Amino acid sequence: MAGKGEKPPSKALEEILERLERGETTISRLDRELGNSNLAALARRLFLERKLGVSLSSIASTILDFEELVGRNIENPIGAIQIPLAVAGPLLVRGDYANGEYYVPLATTEGALVASINRGMKAATLSGGVRVKVIRDGMARAPLIRTPSVEDAVKLVEWVNSNREALRRAASRKTRHGVLVDVQPFIVGNMVWLRLVYKTGDAMGMNMATIASDEVCKEIERSYGGPMECVALSGNLCVDKKPNCLNKLFGRGKYVVAESIIKRDVSEGLLKAPPEAIHYVNLSKNLLGSAVACSLSFNAHYANIIAAIFIATGQDVAQVVESSMGYTWTEMRGGDLYISVTLPSLEVGTVGGGTRLPTQREALSILGVAGGGDPPGVNALKLAEITAATVLAGELNLLAALAAGHLARAHEALGRGGARGG
Ligand code: NAP
Repeated sequence: MAGKGEKPPSKALEEILERLERGETTISRLDRELGNSNLAALARRLFLERKLGVSLSSIASTILDFEELVGRNIENPIGAIQIPLAVAGPLLVRGDYANGEYYVPLATTEGALVASINRGMKAATLSGGVRVKVIRDGMARAPLIRTPSVEDAVKLVEWVNSNREALRRAASRKTRHGVLVDVQPFIVGNMVWLRLVYKTGDAMGMNMATIASDEVCKEIERSYGGPMECVALSGNLCVDKKPNCLNKLFGRGKYVVAESIIKRDVSEGLLKAPPEAIHYVNLSKNLLGSAVACSLSFNAHYANIIAAIFIATGQDVAQVVESSMGYTWTEMRGGDLYISVTLPSLEVGTVGGGTRLPTQREALSILGVAGGGDPPGVNALKLAEITAATVLAGELNLLAALAAGHLARAHEALGRGGARGG
């Protein structure tokens, strides 16, 4: 089956396939040699089908135009993987940017996940909704700089601290929306990390921060008189795509807190568990259990919800690692249940990266956040608030299911083909 813009194998294509088989060209040269990335995708697929004796007709079936994507989102494409997309909702969100009822797009292959989030949303909405606050906002990139000694390291940091305005101007030469808002220095021996923090508008901001940080390093090399050399533009204190404590304390992307008070009758009626039982499961599982496991995260399954939203809306899926770190906190409030989720490192954007792909952009439009906001930044903040509120719903429902002893039954019914929703 041919993808968008592809034609059946032509003479030119047959020649390319023969050259690939003889090792006279490579799969990564095909876009240039054929002059069209959709044709190159077809050639790679035919090459693989013949070489491996497999059929890739499902992978071929896609609306994607690789002429648009190669050079921005992917190299060596052969087609697309399809992941089912659902919505859960309505979820009542009371944030500073998201205010109202939302249907949240979720892409997953895990049966029972959407139903679980949906029930949590219903419980939170019936209880008055989810309040959300973005407490900090900043994307970090941390270049690593080598100096000869700790004395030189301290001198460099002092110079950086008194030249922040010049560094901010250097960063702004490379981006319109990126603004250097903080420099967090760390010294170990003679080595210096400068954790550069940027406001990035509606972009998640990782490319933007990287490009701007390169210019900041060049400015330091140009203007600082002392001995130093930039070892690596990313010195791993950023921290990107690795579990860590730094982001949990300092924040990265959006630092978001969502909270709700679940009414006793909703808890007992809809969730089939009294607030006290949910509270006890949270303390013993999410707090004590995580402590015993020396986990970096004190929650039940943020990653499930974050991954499903990230895939649906074109986020960088590898950032599920640090975006799903966080804490679930519960308290008894009279007879009701207070529940909050805190996500210190939620990295989301509505422009850039995978957000420009057609299906992902449509998913963002379901939330009213496709593209740049007015003013810039409000769409990404709104997405962060809705994401955190959805995490709360998912967390609430799983804790309730555990408290009521329903977890295994739900997975049997919805994960093994035993039921069709309801
Ligand atoms: P990007 O697409 O590289 O940058 C965003 C672009 O959108 C900029 O050109 C920006 O212009 C423009 N823009 C237009 N309207 C905007 C608005 N309202 N708000 C913000 N920007 C606006 O996206 P990114 O978020 O910086 O980077 C995301 C990509 O980085 C993803 O593909 C991700 O996988 C990848 N990534 C890169 C690294 C890395 O080390 N480079 C690491 C992890 C992930 P101005 O810059 O002029 O403002």
